[in-house]
Amino acid sequence: MFKKNNMEVSPVIVPASNKLKSYNFFLVKQENSLTLIDAGLNTDDCWNSLQRTLKVHGYTLTDITGIILTHHHTDHVGLVNRIVSTHSIPVYAHPYAILVLKRDSEYIKMRVEFFRKLYQQMGCGDMGERQVANLYNPISLHEDEKIHCEIQQITDNKLFGFDILDIPGHSPDQIAFYHKECKWLFAGDLLIENLPSNAFIEPDVDGNRTKSLLQQRQSLEKCLSMDVELVFSGHGNMIENPVDLLKERIKEIDVKAGIYINMIKSGISTASGIAQLRYKEKYEKHFFNIMSEVTGTLDYLELQGKINKEMKKGIWHYYCN
Ligand SMILES: [Zn+2]
Repeated sequence: MFKKNNMEVSPVIVPASNKLKSYNFFLVKQENSLTLIDAGLNTDDCWNSLQRTLKVHGYTLTDITGIILTHHHTDHVGLVNRIVSTHSIPVYAHPYAILVLKRDSEYIKMRVEFFRKLYQQMGCGDMGERQVANLYNPISLHEDEKIHCEIQQITDNKLFGFDILDIPGHSPDQIAFYHKECKWLFAGDLLIENLPSNAFIEPDVDGNRTKSLLQQRQSLEKCLSMDVELVFSGHGNMIENPVDLLKERIKEIDVKAGIYINMIKSGISTASGIAQLRYKEKYEKHFFNIMSEVTGTLDYLELQGKINKEMKKGIWHYYCN
């Protein structure tokens, strides 16, 4: 347990068999409230870990007074339905998260078409078409991941004593909860100790592509400019004095961008060409993540004026300036 001033944080840490190491979410006890920050995966493992953590600290499920979500990913919102079905409590999320959490059918259709067009224009051909089908099925079939209760939009910059900070990049709706007196930051997946966080390409609510890698870099810079002693991360260990790690993650983005420039200089002009050269046989298996990274990095370089693009026969070709 982490204790400072009038606040106690009990992390629920559920081991993961993948490189994320663990799924973390947090019980935060303040004077008159017990808030849950994020809600793990919808698994019995996460459910039992939550119950155990509550019990160890002398609480029961019905002591939880509210849930606040750092972003909409399934490994951060999984237990919301189970918790709210036991007792009705407010659930808060960024306005952008709500269409996804509610599995809004118009939004999902728009998202699928967004990726279909993106993959076509990035030169992914038949592979892109096959991957779009894969993208549609999990979303439409996973009705059980839809959040059933009402979700309150976080529109103020304060909630439950925390400053609310927009930190998009990993996802367009990602927010951090900062406690100024404690110098504690609940940062979702902005900063993970053992691996760089993915900056996923997504459409915004209007269907425009988010500049995810640029946003990620800006969010890391924002965190660097703040007085933070401890980052409560969504995966792996908590991060004390995060300055060095933040600087390292920012540097990694620029090193990666440099590698992409060299590939373009060597004559590889399409995003799918870059993805296949860089990731070889992994390209198909991790298509969504890889195309997200490549697109985000190309957007980042273009915004910096380092590369330019030209459309030929419906496909973007990139050139160094
Ligand atoms: Zn995430």
